[in-house]
Amino acid sequence: MNLCQFRQRLTDLGAKPCHADRLLHGWLQLCSYDRKGSPAETFFPAALRRELAAIEAELAGLARLHGEYPADAEVARLLVQLADGQMVESVLLPRGGLCISTQVGCAVGCVFCMSGRNGLLRQLSSLELVAQVVLARRRRAVSKVVFMGMGEPAHNLDNVLEAIDLLGTQGGIGHKKLVLSTVGDLRVFERLMEGLPAVPNPSHPPLVRGGAGLVLSPHGRRMEPSPLPIRGDREGFSSGHASPPLKWFKQASRAADARTRGGREGLSSEQAEQTSNFKVRPALALSLHTTDDALRARLLPNAPRIPVTELVERCEEYARATGYPVQYQWTLIEGVNDNDAELERVIELLSGKYAIMNFIPFNDVDGLDFRRPSPERLARIVGTLKQRGIVTQLRDSAGQEVEGACGQLRARAERSLKRQ
Ligand code: SF4
Repeated sequence: MNLCQFRQRLTDLGAKPCHADRLLHGWLQLCSYDRKGSPAETFFPAALRRELAAIEAELAGLARLHGEYPADAEVARLLVQLADGQMVESVLLPRGGLCISTQVGCAVGCVFCMSGRNGLLRQLSSLELVAQVVLARRRRAVSKVVFMGMGEPAHNLDNVLEAIDLLGTQGGIGHKKLVLSTVGDLRVFERLMEGLPAVPNPSHPPLVRGGAGLVLSPHGRRMEPSPLPIRGDREGFSSGHASPPLKWFKQASRAADARTRGGREGLSSEQAEQTSNFKVRPALALSLHTTDDALRARLLPNAPRIPVTELVERCEEYARATGYPVQYQWTLIEGVNDNDAELERVIELLSGKYAIMNFIPFNDVDGLDFRRPSPERLARIVGTLKQRGIVTQLRDSAGQEVEGACGQLRARAERSLKRQ
């Protein structure tokens, strides 16, 4: 059930938009429906009041906690079971951050990622997306949501944008604390830029590091470094690893496109209108991983073939239009994308850009040929970029010490469920 269908259901019960908004606000923020001088008892129409318990039960069933690793920690992986039994992962991040999944599986098929191993199984609805936030809020406060878990948000864009809009309005989350991540897809850039003025001349000087590790905007304001999600366990690539056959790439790519088109064609006119008129502008993150187009095509086999220079230009355009820096993500893999030539090209690409570079060392996984660079190499990489004026952060995967990283938890749970 997506948000438009849910609102229609409430309308059928005599609810007006103000009633739906109050109900959604209460659900998303775990608070009472009552307002001073306007208790829910008298505010909601009678038919809605009669159905309220059933509606709440249905919302609660959208995402249930199947496991938490480790339990009761600030940074933890949540294994989330959806109403049809499918599993996804959310990650509790430091400083009130939460990383959520946008799809069950993923069609991009990054060779270092567990989530993309079996392709795309299904899209998450907009309500399933925000239900992950509600579930996390039952454990602790959530003030930032990053759409970087399992799945490629560009392949489920209508639902993702609908969820972003809801979280930024009724969910009480600041717009720049909603972060949409993509491998780089023209549909994302076009939709995000809708209605934004073009900024022809770059006016943002690069971000600078303030004292005590603060990141300062070009205007000197403090910006919170994002608790970037963890693209977790990366698997399956070595210099000797054969790429999947070209035919497979094309089939998977066509299938992903068809599903995405199908999702949009299936929208009601009301949803289509709403999704083209979003009020909330999220921050943008781009999964870059390399500056080399040919290597990127091998690492991210089903990502659109857009040259890295064009990706950075489009990201910069959005950063200038919104005033939010773009967060570039880079999974560091020893011997693959951690060499000095890559660093020089990163410096060349991002110098003067409104950008933050987030390096995430690959998580070693038994049986896989990928390795993370040594601690000394990691320190050198980050130090070099910082010295050359690129705002750079080194991040690690949440819950790595417990269950590996993104996608592994779900894979293990599914195997165990199948055995039962
Ligand atoms: Fe999909 Fe992200 Fe995994 Fe790539 S890294 S396969 S885009 S979930």
